[in-house]
Amino acid sequence: MTCITKKRDDVEEYVHDYLRKAAYLRTYANVIHALPDENSWPNVQFKTLLPPLRKRRAGRPRLSRRRGATEPARVQRSVGFRCSKCQQTGHNSRTCKEIEKKWNPLLDKGRDIM
Ligand SMILES: [Zn+2]
Repeated sequence: MTCITKKRDDVEEYVHDYLRKAAYLRTYANVIHALPDENSWPNVQFKTLLPPLRKRRAGRPRLSRRRGATEPARVQRSVGFRCSKCQQTGHNSRTCKEIEKKWNPLLDKGRDIM
């Protein structure tokens, strides 16, 4: 596009005739009939065509779809999780140390027991 405009040529001259509106209108100028119901199809003596057999690949199947080279990477939607016990960020309730301190005074090093 840049080269065409630099040459001061008309961009539309570079578009193929197949992609023009006139070609589209010619394509659909005649009536295109819908296929009749499957019951009215002729009965042919061929084997039923089946899809190709797929071999199972080694390893665990991927859970996420492979993205194309030009496709943008998946957006991380995590907004930062918060511990439900102490409401602090950086850990969750299973790895929370705050509750343990309250329950087990031995873990609280600053205090003297006995
Ligand atoms: Zn916590």
